[in-house]
Amino acid sequence: MEEERPLAGTGRRAMSDNYLTVIPTDPYWRPSKDAADRAAAVLSRMLPDDDARRGLEATWHDSVEVVFCGANLEKISCPHCGAQFTPGWWGEAVSERYSEGFSTLMVTVPCCHAQTSLNELVYDWPMGFAQFRIEVLYPNRAWLTDEELASLTDALGHPLRQILIHI
Ligand SMILES: [Zn+2]
Repeated sequence: MEEERPLAGTGRRAMSDNYLTVIPTDPYWRPSKDAADRAAAVLSRMLPDDDARRGLEATWHDSVEVVFCGANLEKISCPHCGAQFTPGWWGEAVSERYSEGFSTLMVTVPCCHAQTSLNELVYDWPMGFAQFRIEVLYPNRAWLTDEELASLTDALGHPLRQILIHI
C-alpha cells in the first residue's frame, strides 16, 4: 500500500483543478429554492472536507447558459451517426442559438442532417446547457458515482448531468 500513496496524492491534486458542476438534464428546467437547498445539502455531504464545502454554490440564471468543461473538452460528436464535429461548426451553431437568446437549442447536424438539441450532442468530456447549476469550486474529489448522482436526482426532483470544468 505504501507505494500507491504518491500516485493517489497526484491524482487528488489533479482533480482539485476541476470545478465539479451538476446541471438538470433539461436545460430549461429550474428547481424551487427548497429543492435546490435539499440537493445542495446532499451534495455537501458527498464532499470530503470543509474547504470543499465552502466552495459549493447553487445559481439560477434568467436564460440558458453554456456550461463548458474548459480544457477537458476533447471532442464533440453526433448522437445519431457518431461523426465528429469540427470546433468551427459547433462554435457557429452555438453563436447562432446564443444570438436568439437560446430560445431553442435545436440544430441540423451537418453529417447526417438529423435534427437534435445542442444539449444532446456527445460531449467528451461532458458539458451542457442550463439555467440552474450547483457548482463546487475545489471539490477535492473526482466524479460522483452513479449512486451519488441518483440520490442528488432524488433530492432535486430532476435528473442531473455532472460536468468537471478544468480551469
Ligand atoms: Zn450525424
